[in-house]
Amino acid sequence: MTGPLNSGDCFIDGQWVTGEGAPFQKTCPASGEVVWTGRAASTAQVGHAVKVARAAFDTWGRTDQPVRRAVLERYAAELLRRKDPMALAISRDMGKLLKEASIEVDTMVAKISISIKAQSERAGEHSLPTEFGHLDLSHRPHGVMAVFGPYNFPGHLPNGHIVPALLAGNTCVFKASELAPSVAPLMMDAFEAAGLPPGCVNLIQGGRETGGNLIAADINGLLFTGSEHTSRMFHRFFAGRPEVILALEMGGNNPLIIWEPTDVEAATEIAIQSAYLTTGQRCSCARRLILPKGRFGDLVVESIAERARHLAIGPWNDDAAFMGPLVSAHAAAQAVAFQSKLIADGARAVLPLEQKDKNHGFVSAGLIDMSDAAPMDEEMFGPLLQVYRAGDIDQAIALANATRFGLAGGLVCDDLPTWERVKGRLRAGILNLNRPTVGASGQMPFGGPGASGNFRPGAYYAADYCAWPQASQVGDPVQSFE
Ligand code: NAD
Repeated sequence: MTGPLNSGDCFIDGQWVTGEGAPFQKTCPASGEVVWTGRAASTAQVGHAVKVARAAFDTWGRTDQPVRRAVLERYAAELLRRKDPMALAISRDMGKLLKEASIEVDTMVAKISISIKAQSERAGEHSLPTEFGHLDLSHRPHGVMAVFGPYNFPGHLPNGHIVPALLAGNTCVFKASELAPSVAPLMMDAFEAAGLPPGCVNLIQGGRETGGNLIAADINGLLFTGSEHTSRMFHRFFAGRPEVILALEMGGNNPLIIWEPTDVEAATEIAIQSAYLTTGQRCSCARRLILPKGRFGDLVVESIAERARHLAIGPWNDDAAFMGPLVSAHAAAQAVAFQSKLIADGARAVLPLEQKDKNHGFVSAGLIDMSDAAPMDEEMFGPLLQVYRAGDIDQAIALANATRFGLAGGLVCDDLPTWERVKGRLRAGILNLNRPTVGASGQMPFGGPGASGNFRPGAYYAADYCAWPQASQVGDPVQSFE
């Protein structure tokens, strides 16, 4: 297939409109073909989108919960109907393998029933009888939410903010990632077909300037998933405005500890999935591997290097591939540059991460020995795993915690007391035993301390930041004493 999947720009107040800002395009990092062309929303269009979202909030915010649920349930069905074009849009924009992009769409569909359950459990209406009558707990929406997502899950992650926000009664203005703009119009299409009233969800396309215009508009909340850098910038922007709810989900520099006793082959598989799935473009990917000093650790390094060397790499439509390209040729060059910096600081490439050619995003999986290197506590959003060695499990935990992030972590080990020790001390919001660090459950909260977020975890806990609680004491009817 050639040519852009669509050329729709912005969806505002239930209407498709051409952006009046700067033109931009996205090329597929696997083929180099242009897969999206369009224009960013202008400043006036961003302002208009927020205005219509505010007008729509008047009604949507007061719509009965069962009606909101029914619309979102229809949206789930409409997403399912669009599964193939949505998966294709994601794959071609960012190079994600089609099989993974299809799972992303399934996850978007599953998000609706999970969010309905979470909303009623965590933010529903509750009543408690008392001696004077009863206590009523209800939850109220904030208003207009600005939604930003990262390029690596351009459908699932914004959807993970939008669905709970709408369920709670908020309205949204969603700025799609400029690195993966194609799936967002299909989501709007699904909302429209589901009968969501105009103005409840609005889409604007564009990059940083458009994003800057959105946060500067009259919004009540910012629901953001993306990099630490952008997040900090937004956090500073909203300093002194506690009335604006900020849910910031950021990156990680995630550790995976593999410790004796365990099976080397099984541990290798967990490390491969953790570090290299989606070409390392998952916030929960393991970036740092911590192994015991000695023969067992050496065996694990050899085994991972051998497996990583033979990982199949291919374009999005290659069913046999394990890794697709990075999102762009630029991202691939940055990954190589990050590795070069580590090597210049004393690291040794066991298996170098290499860019296949300068014009595409393809890189090979890298494994790098950090024994004699100065650690760099930065997230490298690609398939590069840094190996550290520890003398005992306490040193391994200290190494794992030597990061300002706190998103994900893992332990591979068959000894339960070691797990208990690690679990109690490792600072990570997602901490797994004998499972890859990636592939979080939607039934659980997602987020972590440190530079990984502002303690507003998403996924199952997204209901919490989408509504504010209202506590009422409701007395029995006042008696007349005449
Ligand atoms: P990014 O921060 O560069 O971009 C995210 C969004 O912010 C995009 O829409 C972008 O246009 C916008 N943006 C960026 N800079 C801006 C600026 N100066 N002004 C206004 N808007 C701006 O993130 P990315 O590179 O798209 O995504 C990768 C990052 O996302 C990684 O750090 C990854 O760890 C993180 N991530 C986190 C989670 C999580 O749940 N914690 C999940 C996936 C990805």
